[in-house]
Amino acid sequence: MKDTIALLVALQALDSEAVQVAAQKQSLPEKIRLLEETRQKQQGALDEAEEKLKGLIQRHRDQEEQLKRGAEGLKKAKQRLLDVKTNKEYQAILKEMEVIETLQGKVEDEIISLLEQADHMKAAVKQGEKDLSAFLAVFADEKQALEGQVQALDDNLIRLKQERQTLLEALPGDLVRRYETIREKRNGVAVISVWKEVCNGCHMNIPPQMYIELQRSQELRTCPNCHRIIYWRNEASAGES
Ligand SMILES: [Zn+2]
Repeated sequence: MKDTIALLVALQALDSEAVQVAAQKQSLPEKIRLLEETRQKQQGALDEAEEKLKGLIQRHRDQEEQLKRGAEGLKKAKQRLLDVKTNKEYQAILKEMEVIETLQGKVEDEIISLLEQADHMKAAVKQGEKDLSAFLAVFADEKQALEGQVQALDDNLIRLKQERQTLLEALPGDLVRRYETIREKRNGVAVISVWKEVCNGCHMNIPPQMYIELQRSQELRTCPNCHRIIYWRNEASAGES
């Protein structure tokens, strides 16, 4: 019976490890996805800054055109001033020139503002390019490392499954079924150690007489409280089994 307990303990250890490995494996695709998302965000931010810069450059070009047209308008108005016949006409042209000059002033202010904005946006594009290339340098390595981890965990799961199969073949079928039933009902833990009369599964005391019998390990016992299969493990000794 000592051998049976040892087999059950080993089976429980394998199953608990498999649960952990599966959980680890589950978290990895999410990490890969987040990495991908960060890359897309940085690329998106860079694209956006480049688009904005293009827009600013275009607007600057338009305003320069506007300025040129304004200057031509002023030039024509000045020429017309030379041919005026009446004071009224003269005043009208002066008024017209004043309107154009006011407008020119506004366009010039706009151009200054656009140039400042373009400078900022150029800096943002440069920073975005720097961030993206720095990220891309580590991105490929990290992604490959994560994919390697997924592969390693898969290999581990296969190994655990094979070891499990070996253990199952060495255990009586009805005991395996009992083990599976308890494991299902008791949060994945069917076999648990007891120390100092306390079940490590439910943390309740077991009867003293049962505890004494348990240390002799002559037959399979279950915790009266949580019904897990229990075994005695000396937690005080070095090299716990
Ligand atoms: Zn218990």
